[in-house]
Amino acid sequence: MQRLSARPHYVGSPYNKDNAEWMLAKFREWGWDARIEQYDVLFPTPKERLLEMTAPTRFKATLEEPAVAVDPTSSQKSEQLPTYNAYSIDGDVTGPLVYVNYGRPEDYEELEAAGVSVRGAIVIARYGGSFRGTKPKIAAEHGAIGCLIYSDPMDDGYFVDAVFPEGPMRSKDGVQRGSAQDLPQYSGDPLTPGQPSIPGVKRLDLKDAATLTKIPTLPLSYGDAQPLLAGMRGRVAPAGWRGALPITYRLGPGATQVHLKVAFNWDIKPMYDVIAQIKGSTFPDEWIVRGNHHDAWVNGASDPISGMAPELEEARAIGQLVKQGWAPKRTLVYAAWDGEEPGLLGSTEWVEQHDAELREKAVVYINSDGNSRGFLQASGSHTLEHLVNEVARSVDDPETKGTVWKRWQARQISSTSGDRRNEARSRADLRIGALGSGSDYTPFLQHHGIASLNLSFGGFDEDGIYHSIYDDFYHFSKFADPGFLYGRALSQFSGSLAIRLADADLLPFEFTNLADTTQTYLRDVQALLRQRQDDVRERNRQISDGVLAAVNDPKEPRPIPASEDVPPAINFAPLENAVSALSRAADRYKTAAAKPVADAAEVRAVNARLIQAERQFIDEGGLPRRPWYRHLLYAPGFYTGYGVKTMPGVREGIEQKRYDEAEKEAARLAAAVSREATLINDAAAALEKSSTR
Ligand SMILES: [Zn+2]
Repeated sequence: MQRLSARPHYVGSPYNKDNAEWMLAKFREWGWDARIEQYDVLFPTPKERLLEMTAPTRFKATLEEPAVAVDPTSSQKSEQLPTYNAYSIDGDVTGPLVYVNYGRPEDYEELEAAGVSVRGAIVIARYGGSFRGTKPKIAAEHGAIGCLIYSDPMDDGYFVDAVFPEGPMRSKDGVQRGSAQDLPQYSGDPLTPGQPSIPGVKRLDLKDAATLTKIPTLPLSYGDAQPLLAGMRGRVAPAGWRGALPITYRLGPGATQVHLKVAFNWDIKPMYDVIAQIKGSTFPDEWIVRGNHHDAWVNGASDPISGMAPELEEARAIGQLVKQGWAPKRTLVYAAWDGEEPGLLGSTEWVEQHDAELREKAVVYINSDGNSRGFLQASGSHTLEHLVNEVARSVDDPETKGTVWKRWQARQISSTSGDRRNEARSRADLRIGALGSGSDYTPFLQHHGIASLNLSFGGFDEDGIYHSIYDDFYHFSKFADPGFLYGRALSQFSGSLAIRLADADLLPFEFTNLADTTQTYLRDVQALLRQRQDDVRERNRQISDGVLAAVNDPKEPRPIPASEDVPPAINFAPLENAVSALSRAADRYKTAAAKPVADAAEVRAVNARLIQAERQFIDEGGLPRRPWYRHLLYAPGFYTGYGVKTMPGVREGIEQKRYDEAEKEAARLAAAVSREATLINDAAAALEKSSTR
């Protein structure tokens, strides 16, 4: 970690390449067959950044993070990237300021209810609640001309704990850099959607790149945001919108005028993925892929090196095993991705280049992207839930000396209630979460249907150095995981997963958890529709019987909305039947897989089917309005980015009031679930036949 985070190493920087070459040499030293795969990608860096308040008072934002004396790498000024949001467009705008809370769709509904419009305004949103790239996207859809995003001390500053360097949290000048790409449309190089950024591939013109922001966008520290927010007038912000600054939070607009100017160098920069492999002895054409990114916004000890270093440690240990005579049955592919920070570039371009091979050969992708101290945090394909539970029972928790599983279960029991708590006590496997987006598993899972996992430890130490110059070795070793105990635990955990997947005769996919979870997703979307119907009925009633008018404050009236049609019923029957069929097939497979099978050729044929299991949820047409995302069971929210939407076509159809579309999507998903049930039945039948022989 100290070596890799010694200097800033963002895409195109000298130390980024240096790191890639150093890792390449390490993989080779440990006996891996390693190479660098290069892509040339659009990577803008700031040329000009200006933010000033021109009325009612004058103020110019500093847009600087100062060095801290006790933190040796914080003074590497000449190599640090300035604070900015990558893939913001150039722009020079002046307008009144409106506060939009986290800038999510529901925040704009609240503004509308309060009679506040952002048309022609510059919005100021706080970080959190959604992926930052969706904040300017939604603001632009509502007519805003610029977008500022600041870190409120309530979310990761002094409200939480002492600020850096005394404590781990964000200080008044700390800024969260980050991509403002429209990730929910597609990940990767904005100029080559669906294609690898290699020589000969046609690039879009900058003006045609769909994932750049539509309005200029700039991130701020709370030191810079406070004078702007304090200068605002207009209605007082709702209680849930208020942060921890010592001011009255207001919605605006008012007399506050802000001038925002940003301009970027729109360069194409080289990017270096390090790809290492150990060929499988028995099934060389079945790949277990493991990855973490190596690029950072600045020094990035926590993000990404606290995940990269454990992956390297796995590679070192696996190399030792090979030298002692062990060989994995399947091929292990270990990757250090470049360009994750600007937009999952390294993983996406690689996946797009090796498209055909991955469809055929990739069994599983295991991702990490940073690590801290505490509880196992595992998300991913529910077909791998059982395996994750098994491995969690075999790795020791460094602090409690019990197993990782025991501590994970304790966390589930203590942090839930009702059915979820009973389940944490009694269900054989603890549930893993579903994956949306936000790291390099996205192209594998969402674009290709490769069963994926995302792993880390965490839960104890909150920090406020994310994407700032203070995310460095000093901070990590003092606050995040002193002693690096959980770095070792992550290596043990994901290394064990990789080895078990590589060596299992019958691939350890399990489908009853998938069936059970799919059932809960279906119940969730059905409940969502009922909730929407009830909400609209109730609001219409409050409009017609005068309740809304009677609670209005004549001094500061809110507009009375027009009544709305109640959402129609949706036919879920085909999906309900498909999910039932999936349950039956999963039970049958579980029984069949429990019996010993002697015939290696039969097992091989079953494995070939199992590898295609996750692919059954892929529909080549993709999701509505974003064809690059093709997985019908999970996707990042179109308007939230990070947050996962399960049954996304159906759910977002309901949320966005496109009920006909929601019903069509339910039918399309039913077809995918039926394909999956058929595949599992076929696999079960093959196992049954060979075990009775
Ligand atoms: Zn990261």
